[in-house]
Amino acid sequence: MILDGKAVAQKVLGEVGAGVERLRAETGVTPTLAVVLVGDFAPSKVYVTAKLKAGASVGIATRDHLFPAGLTQAELRALLASLNADRAVHGILLQLPLVPGCDEDEAIRAIAPEKDVDGLHPQNLGQLLAGAPTVVPCTPAGCMEILDHYGAKLEGKEAVVVGRSRLVGKPLAQLLLARHATVTMCHTRTRDLAEHTRRADVLCVAAGRARMITGAMVKEGAWVIDVGVNRLETGKLAGDVDFQSVESRAEAITPVPGGVGPMTVAMLLKNTLAAARRQLTK
Ligand code: NAP
Repeated sequence: MILDGKAVAQKVLGEVGAGVERLRAETGVTPTLAVVLVGDFAPSKVYVTAKLKAGASVGIATRDHLFPAGLTQAELRALLASLNADRAVHGILLQLPLVPGCDEDEAIRAIAPEKDVDGLHPQNLGQLLAGAPTVVPCTPAGCMEILDHYGAKLEGKEAVVVGRSRLVGKPLAQLLLARHATVTMCHTRTRDLAEHTRRADVLCVAAGRARMITGAMVKEGAWVIDVGVNRLETGKLAGDVDFQSVESRAEAITPVPGGVGPMTVAMLLKNTLAAARRQLTK
């Protein structure tokens, strides 16, 4: 079964659009997302354009704050402080990675937790760890949405997450744990990666290494979520999973493109609507 992230994202976007309409009718306010991009890293520009476009498609107002690479940490801090104080802005998305010389941790901490629609502020990540309601980082939230949409059974299953980044691997492992999967996290110091991946009923890969997971590394009947986005020399996109050799072994698999990618944007807008609702109704 191909897990069609594009279709699931469309469903989520439809729900967000309806939610935006409802909130506007109740409060007269349009949820507003500020997108901040520093520098001209080409993939980041593509992601920002996609986020702005998708926001407009569901009626979320967007403001772009695009700066050259020379923006100083102090200037970035001042911008974030002004967006925090602006009651018309409900969500702030700081496109990562920041340019070299900018302190990413400091910048993330400078975003008001209630406007942190990426869910990366330590307060929100801490809430996730505590099992309390919080803003869930968009990509892991998208992975869970796909699994749920297609009815994946998680309780008691062996889940293996390859990659331990703050953005994807760690929060995803936490979400799987919260759903009572038995979770193993792998990374570059993992001694025998295949030994772990072959045990996985649910295998989630977010390593950023094109096609590193091959059919021989996957259990027959596994559900495979491929988060990786890698640009090949040919210019084509490839995931971290070798789709061709894994497809025949897996029961279900996300393609790249058209899997997790569209979900990330949809979950960002879902988080933005939820943030606006919390701020307007508190
Ligand atoms: P990251 O910060 O570079 O983290 C990569 C993680 O993978 C690290 O924890 C690293 O281990 C681990 N890793 C790398 N090579 C490995 C190997 N050979 N064996 C085992 N573990 C390995 O990357 P990220 O931000 O999490 O992103 C991961 C991938 O997902 C990238 O391709 C990125 O483009 C993609 N992504 C896609 C979306 C989307 O919307 N589809 C969103 C975010 C990211 P160490 O910790 O030991 O270094």
